[in-house]
Amino acid sequence: MEKYLYPAGRVGRATALLFTLLLSGCATTAVQQSYELADTDLRSWFNDARTVVEQERNVELSDVHLSTVSSREMLFVLSDIYGKKLDPNMTADMRIRVFADKAFAEVGFLQAVYDPFAKRIVVNRENLSNFITDLTAQGLDARNAALTVLIHELIHAADDHDYDLVAIENRHPGDTLGVYMVAEGHAELQTEQYCKIAGCSAAYSRARLQSFNLENADTQQIHAARENNMMLLYGQSQTFLKELGARDPDGILVKQAIQNPPGDALQFFDAASYPDIPRADSRAKIYAALDAVNLSSNGAPMLQFASAPYTDSDLPVDSSKRQHYVRNELNSIIAAGRMVYVDQYDRDAAGLAIRVFEASGPGEVRKKWAEIVADYNHLVASVRSRWVTSKHISADTLPGGTGDLPEQARMFAATITTKSQDESLTVFNSLVIEGNYLIVVSSADNFELNKHALRETLQQLRNPI
Ligand SMILES: [Zn+2]
Repeated sequence: MEKYLYPAGRVGRATALLFTLLLSGCATTAVQQSYELADTDLRSWFNDARTVVEQERNVELSDVHLSTVSSREMLFVLSDIYGKKLDPNMTADMRIRVFADKAFAEVGFLQAVYDPFAKRIVVNRENLSNFITDLTAQGLDARNAALTVLIHELIHAADDHDYDLVAIENRHPGDTLGVYMVAEGHAELQTEQYCKIAGCSAAYSRARLQSFNLENADTQQIHAARENNMMLLYGQSQTFLKELGARDPDGILVKQAIQNPPGDALQFFDAASYPDIPRADSRAKIYAALDAVNLSSNGAPMLQFASAPYTDSDLPVDSSKRQHYVRNELNSIIAAGRMVYVDQYDRDAAGLAIRVFEASGPGEVRKKWAEIVADYNHLVASVRSRWVTSKHISADTLPGGTGDLPEQARMFAATITTKSQDESLTVFNSLVIEGNYLIVVSSADNFELNKHALRETLQQLRNPI
């Protein structure tokens, strides 16, 4: 799988910085001589995989269909699924516009997907062929390689049958990463078990080692894996479910987690605390405030996307550093939320992101402030290169000034300029502490919008509607 994780530079360098701040990148598929995937083989392997999952799960999956598509068609399939999950009334056109970036980022590495709306498994023929090519080149059997993918997808179908995935996913969009982590973790956990029955254990171990053992991976692979939350979705989630299974051998806790996944990725590092109701309540309060912050750009309401406050990219790559970071974070931060705003008519225009943290005390909230400022300074310094300059500026001196910000707030600003194209943008980070809450607004170019977003969020936290 690792071969398909090359990120492609699609945006200018200055804009790329903002994307690092706010959104995510994209991936493309590597070109190589591919295994010829015959339809008859695929059908017969699919039937084998289905038999194993049906027997082990004691479920009837004859209504689950198999389709094969090209990478291009997969873009539409993914946008369609994400759009329907977000809003069943969203038009097909809107689904593509909103989810094109996400689908594009994922289409490079997904071999297959389970569509809970159409109750079908959609295989990306090119990617599955590449995956099989890769494993057969290492001496593994083509059928077994395919089984690791098909069993995984059929477990999603069995989970959908038993628990109704669409209903589970119909949570606050801010919880989506947690919801997906449990779904993927469970599919992986059972694929590992069922491969022992189906004969695909060697292929399973090889494929997973290749995808998630990032110790010898190059920077691009690590970057792409983190952008797509691979370690959280397929690694930590499985560890979490194994720990829950060890806590409760009857499997009741695992079932509970499938139906009520923790919303925050960090809680997957602390299975002992599951279910943590107080954290879930604090988190819901933060998202309620963020939901109520409505922003406009170019005279029209901006699109608002709740997103996860902690993703793979926010966590250290090294696993012991990662554990250490998460333990500290869980001690000092009770809950966090993040909302991204995008101009609905100009998807290339600079967006804006608001983060809210609830700390466990006044010292902890100050510590988080210092960490955010240090991260921002690091980011501004790290874009400097032969082609790009960056320079801190004082926000007070900008037209409009910072006099309209709350007294205890501060704004950090820097201009980033590409030397060759002479393009320049100003990136802003404004912060304010209110009690144990820290609000952070990150954006580019629109100074007034940033200040407005900070004031609005503060207002919503003070006086929830
Ligand atoms: Zn999956």
